[in-house]
Amino acid sequence: MNALDITSVKQAKLTPMMAQYIAVKEQYQEMLLFYRMGDFYEMFFHDAEVASQALGIALTHRGKIEDREIAMCGVPVHAMDGYLARLIQKGHKVAICEQSETPEIFKKRGGKGPLPRDVVRVVTPGTLQEDGLLNAHQHNFLVAVGRVSADLAIAWADMSTGDFYVQPCADGDVDTLLARLQAAELIYADDLTERLMAAQAAYHASPQPSALFDHKKAAERLCEFYGVATLQGFGQFTPPMLSAAGGLLAYLQRTQLNQMPRLTSLSSLSKQAFMDIDAATRKSLELTQTLSGERSGSLLQAIDCTRTAAGARLLHGRISAPLTDRQQIEQRLGLANWLLDQPGLCQTISDHFRQVPDLDRSLSRIASGRGGPRDLKNLAEGLLGARRIASACLSSEQIELSPEVARLCTLAEAPASLGDRILPALGEELPLLAREGGFIRSGYDSQLDNLQQMRDESRRLIAALQAKYAEQTGVSSLKIKYNNVLGYHIDVRANHGEKLLGDENFIHRQTTAQAVRFTTTELSELEKQLSTAADRAVALELELFAELTDAVHRQSGQIAEAAHALACLDVAHSTARLAERHHYTRPFLRDDTTFQIEAGRHPVVEQMLTTSSPFIANDCQLSEQANLWLLTGPNMAGKSTYLRQNAHIAILAQAGLYVPAERAEIGIIDKLFSRVGASDDLARGQSTFMVEMVETAAILNQSTDKSLVILDEIGRGTATWDGLAIAWACLEHLHNKNKCRTLFATHYHELTSLQVQLDRLRIYAMQVKEWKGEIIFLHQVAAGAADKSYGVHVAKLAGLPTAVIQRAAGLVRQLEAQSFGATNTANMLPLFDRPVAEDSLVSDSSSVAVSAELDDMLTALEPDALSPREALSLLYELKAEHDKSGI
Ligand code: ATP
Repeated sequence: MNALDITSVKQAKLTPMMAQYIAVKEQYQEMLLFYRMGDFYEMFFHDAEVASQALGIALTHRGKIEDREIAMCGVPVHAMDGYLARLIQKGHKVAICEQSETPEIFKKRGGKGPLPRDVVRVVTPGTLQEDGLLNAHQHNFLVAVGRVSADLAIAWADMSTGDFYVQPCADGDVDTLLARLQAAELIYADDLTERLMAAQAAYHASPQPSALFDHKKAAERLCEFYGVATLQGFGQFTPPMLSAAGGLLAYLQRTQLNQMPRLTSLSSLSKQAFMDIDAATRKSLELTQTLSGERSGSLLQAIDCTRTAAGARLLHGRISAPLTDRQQIEQRLGLANWLLDQPGLCQTISDHFRQVPDLDRSLSRIASGRGGPRDLKNLAEGLLGARRIASACLSSEQIELSPEVARLCTLAEAPASLGDRILPALGEELPLLAREGGFIRSGYDSQLDNLQQMRDESRRLIAALQAKYAEQTGVSSLKIKYNNVLGYHIDVRANHGEKLLGDENFIHRQTTAQAVRFTTTELSELEKQLSTAADRAVALELELFAELTDAVHRQSGQIAEAAHALACLDVAHSTARLAERHHYTRPFLRDDTTFQIEAGRHPVVEQMLTTSSPFIANDCQLSEQANLWLLTGPNMAGKSTYLRQNAHIAILAQAGLYVPAERAEIGIIDKLFSRVGASDDLARGQSTFMVEMVETAAILNQSTDKSLVILDEIGRGTATWDGLAIAWACLEHLHNKNKCRTLFATHYHELTSLQVQLDRLRIYAMQVKEWKGEIIFLHQVAAGAADKSYGVHVAKLAGLPTAVIQRAAGLVRQLEAQSFGATNTANMLPLFDRPVAEDSLVSDSSSVAVSAELDDMLTALEPDALSPREALSLLYELKAEHDKSGI
């Protein structure tokens, strides 16, 4: 609508307000400026056009510059959170510019022109604190990538809870770590823009000036923020770690201005502490959200029985980052076990947890000066709830208290006396903001009570004056009213004005078409008393509020520890409840490469099934001698479900949670890879098959003998023989090179013949039963190979036209008669190249041997006896032999 932008109007003659707006906007060019005008935040010029479109609100105009209208839109202050949330979700950053003085004070000190205004905060996706803008069940991480020479590190902080971490990061691990954190916002030095191109599409990302990430200044900045002389007490930090953490802090200082958040001491984490789960695996296993981005249907949602927001966030973090340290895992499991053994206690604390508000987020808002009376109340109730929960645990006499339970309970109840102090100070109905008063409970402070009494008495006397003046003047419609310009005044209709104008007690203030307004000395006096008492009461309430928030500041470290202890207890309680309700068991963690699951279940699928067709549990017995299972079976038989359930069980176990199985023994897994299901990545210009190959390459290049690999239908995205060959070669590589625990599902029945060559390979199949021409899926895993795919049966179930089904069934019969079946392939094994020996390259003599074999094959070949399909595949094999032997 309006092409007028601020750069083109700077030279024009501007109103004082517009000049002020432009001066502010120039400092915040890359974000939308919410400019406070009374009860609205207004946006102008290009900002107005962007915001009106993003929010679906009317675009109007306000004034003109050189005959051209200035675009404008506005949002009411009281509804700001909703509008902000929508802008932030769309990736905008918003600078909030407030009036820094009230009109009254400005007038009193003789100010001229527009009210002074300042930007008080820049709101970005990674720096949110308001409950209305945040997901209570998930952290909101601002993530910074730091670099010094070729070394990278990643720091992350949640401003709404105070968590602050940093971890070194290899170049290839950036995407894995970002996926683990589900970064709400990503920042990095502008010279990393090209390197982080892929991440930019996935997160709200913005390059920042490199100076912010200067590692030499970073240590100084961090020390100053924490008020310490050295960071040594926090841990060891490499230059890239300092660059990342220092950059993050500098960005917070730029956006939060003088309302910096409280951050916990910077913690350094090591990559080895967590099970590596790359972005593709995380996505395909639907750990914390489904492929379509929903929480419902994810692993997390299926196992979450937490009662508090902080507990839910902690559980989310644990599922996202399972541990590799057995002792730490056992500690978490031990805590859950202790509660599971005491159902009565578990129920009691479950009820108490319901009463516990979000301590962390209230603390963070109070600590950064943005908290209000409701935050104080939440904090106090949270602290008192923590004490109730701790004392219920500590007084439990059934089972001996473990040192871990005792430690958490002590931490949880430590700051409770602060709750005792705060709660009696606060009234029942609390305003969001402290500035208008009205939140201190009467009876808490006698001076405040007196002032409020005086204020109320003056209000009462003013109201009484109305009756007195009405009687005195004989004007029954006389009213005492209030407005911002005149304050309290006597208001009579214009036709009664004469009666009062003749009376010297009534001092004329204003005449309008409808009314004549007066005051009296008595009324002015009472008004002065009232406003003095009211102002003093608000000022005193603010003093009391500051006293209470100061006390919170002084104990903020203890409160944060109590909040964390409470979240740990909530997660343990959630684990115990899940174990009880859904029959989950405590896993046994080991240091070897065992993976023995008895009667394992899929946590999500089993909850969706009804009792009439319940989930069929299955074992999985991977061991050092048999670490590769090849699973065949018809479509819809349950292969993917089985693969995923084992990956889920591994994640739950190492997250320190119980697992859906009768028994689980798991050797600690360093990396988990899952390639299940197909997806393409059009944004990166990759086809479905290309994505499949990229992900498979990552697995073959990175998995170790401590890893667990789940592969579903590798090679299905390309021509049959190419696909079979790729799947074949991958199996050999996994068996001979990676030596990882592997579950490999396939429709290529030919692969089962590989058991002759690969001694740790075992063949399993999903069982089905044929009955009266129909197939019944038994969903049972059993040793042996499947004989058929039943793809046409599934197509029939899906409702393909009968003609197509009949034609397809006929074609299958013909193709099966002609092709190499599994048995044929096994017979032809000598035709196929042996896998490369485990520890050596192919020697010259073996190359000669292969050439001789090739010779024999060619000699024995009878071209006329081969079908076209056999001829073609043989041709490929011969060519491969030829290339390998280097003839
Ligand atoms: P495809 O080869 O077509 O991908 P699949 O063999 O991988 O099929 P799944 O997708 O795992 O089959 O399972 C198909 C459906 O079967 C699931 O959605 C689930 O409803 C049901 N199912 C799978 N496993 C079980 C089980 N163990 N018990 C009960 N039902 C199951």
